[in-house]
Amino acid sequence: MTIGFIGAGKMAQALASGFIASRVASVDKLFASAPSMESLQGIKEKINNINVTTDNKDIVRKNDVIIVAVKPNILSQVLKEIAPVIRSENLIISVAAGIRIPAIEDPLPNGTRVVRVMPNTPCLVGAGASAYSLGTYAQSRDAETVNKLMSAVGLCEKVPESLIDAVVGVSGSGPAYMFVAIEALADGGVKAGLPRHLALKLAAQTLLGAGKMVMEIGAHPAELKDEVCSPGGTTIAAVHTLEKNGFRGALIDAVLESCNRSRELG
Ligand code: NAD
Repeated sequence: MTIGFIGAGKMAQALASGFIASRVASVDKLFASAPSMESLQGIKEKINNINVTTDNKDIVRKNDVIIVAVKPNILSQVLKEIAPVIRSENLIISVAAGIRIPAIEDPLPNGTRVVRVMPNTPCLVGAGASAYSLGTYAQSRDAETVNKLMSAVGLCEKVPESLIDAVVGVSGSGPAYMFVAIEALADGGVKAGLPRHLALKLAAQTLLGAGKMVMEIGAHPAELKDEVCSPGGTTIAAVHTLEKNGFRGALIDAVLESCNRSRELG
């Protein structure tokens, strides 16, 4: 299978790197387009020998699976541009935040197989969290293709399209909240006397470890939290401070804000 990316920015680079690292596709099977050779420089630097072109239609002609990874505000213009060369073999995968399936299908020829995916940037390191919804004409083999691709770069779940905005709020935008959390944990460590590099390493590994425990042990996070809170100890004192400062409420609000913004964009 060859895979063509239209748009060669952060998300295309994350997915392409992840596909190569997980051996779901070799570099000679990956193609990418962007408006100028200058705008293709980033992907060429990150992925040696990736096939590049400035012609979006060429990507559609040469590949059956097309991942459209342009900004949401130009998606419709790009779909109109490629519509005349769409073939029945093409599967169009959109990763644009907030753009709903009818708006993806509308500019394309009737019957085009479309899948809407909501990935996140940790796909770059094989730890992505993606959800996808099938378009009107997508078939079960298309779900299998998307599952294969996105599972190669992390977790992948199928959801009804009505839940995609909520997915944006949790995992699409979520890495940014966690980067803020890592930075803030490290700041706390520095304030308490740790060197910056050590504080950052400890903070990042702590988030990674906590996530792994939830995924691998399968216990409720509240249970895992209770296990590390000794009576009268340090951790429960810290948890009390988080609760007083509205930590849970802030995260819930963040998810809802992102979800609402995604609804507005759609
Ligand atoms: P980006 O700005 O890094 O990349 C956009 C790419 O599109 C660039 O390579 C640009 O040169 C190219 N481009 C611009 N006009 C084009 C055209 N007419 N034809 C072909 N290519 C064109 O953006 P990104 O962060 O990679 O986001 C891409 C998509 O991924 C967006 O729709 C976004 O909603 C979605 N997404 C991004 C993230 C994220 O964390 N970055 C997460 C989930 C979904």
